[in-house]
Amino acid sequence: MKLSLVIPCYNEEGNVEKFFSEVNRVFKDKVGDYEFVFVNDGSKDKTYQKLKQIYNNHSDKNNIQVLTFSRNFGKEAAIYAGLSKAEGDLVCLIDADLQQRPEVVLEMLEVMKSDEEIDCVAAYQQQRKENSVISAFKSMFYKIINKISDVEFVNGASDFRLMKRVMVDAILQMTEFHRFSKGLFSYVGFNTKYIPYEVCERESGETKWGFKKLFKYALEGIFAFSTMPLKFATFIGLFSSICSILYLIVVVVQKLAFGIDVPGYATIVVLLLLIGGLLLFCLGIIGEYLSKMYVQIKDRPVYILKEHLKQDKIEK
Ligand code: UDP
Ligand code: MG
Repeated sequence: MKLSLVIPCYNEEGNVEKFFSEVNRVFKDKVGDYEFVFVNDGSKDKTYQKLKQIYNNHSDKNNIQVLTFSRNFGKEAAIYAGLSKAEGDLVCLIDADLQQRPEVVLEMLEVMKSDEEIDCVAAYQQQRKENSVISAFKSMFYKIINKISDVEFVNGASDFRLMKRVMVDAILQMTEFHRFSKGLFSYVGFNTKYIPYEVCERESGETKWGFKKLFKYALEGIFAFSTMPLKFATFIGLFSSICSILYLIVVVVQKLAFGIDVPGYATIVVLLLLIGGLLLFCLGIIGEYLSKMYVQIKDRPVYILKEHLKQDKIEK
């Protein structure tokens, strides 16, 4: 059985060589047939040159593919490209920075071998080694999305996972533009076994996921896997309609029964502001979905390949 490692790389010049040698060292005599599918996601540093060097110096080029994007399309696009080109019966997604150790891949292979019913072995972080504010926000995100989406999201589970070909093919059938892998993995189903792992320190360079990018990514996930925000607009509309009818009844009763005039100006201003704000908020939610549909309908490719190094030929 052939194993493909899909490795998204963005500005990883300090890591790719070490990653390559570490995997070969750890896999030696333990994994028979495996290939590297490096995806250079428009890196601005020397990642491409390093990957080309690895490719050129490696005698058995059957085992390496290097995909290079025309620009940075993001990790999700890199994962999609890597999965499309991987040729293995088993495919493992792994980061280039050695935060996810190749030893864990061996463990995943063992778990997969132990039970043929298992289609996917996913690693999750038992303890998050990160800023406590980010960690708290991530936990909150999982709570919210699990409440409002039909698909189950596992807190701490990353993209780091080993999948059988049948699951990879199912994911590749999802050709949507706004990709949120964590959701896609759950959406396609299959029998997934979760194993704990410890995240190591980055070998070199720094994380590309700042708070702003993570927040945007979380919203992407919510809009991609739940239509609850749209229903929220309906609820708010219903709620404010009921409130205004009740208010109207109170005003009419006060006027007819007790002859009290309700001071109109202040009430109207407050109501206008409240309803105007709610309307804009709901319009914004609809706009989010509409913009996603707009981009999807344009049917642009998820990534653009500039070069694909594979075996002895260079496909351009
Ligand atoms: N990555 C990518 N494209 C991007 C951002 C990141 O291919 O636009 C890759 C990156 O090179 C690494 C993996 O995705 O191999 C995870 O990124 P990072 O280590 O920055 O994330 P973290 O581990 O901090 O969550
Ligand atoms: Mg990392």
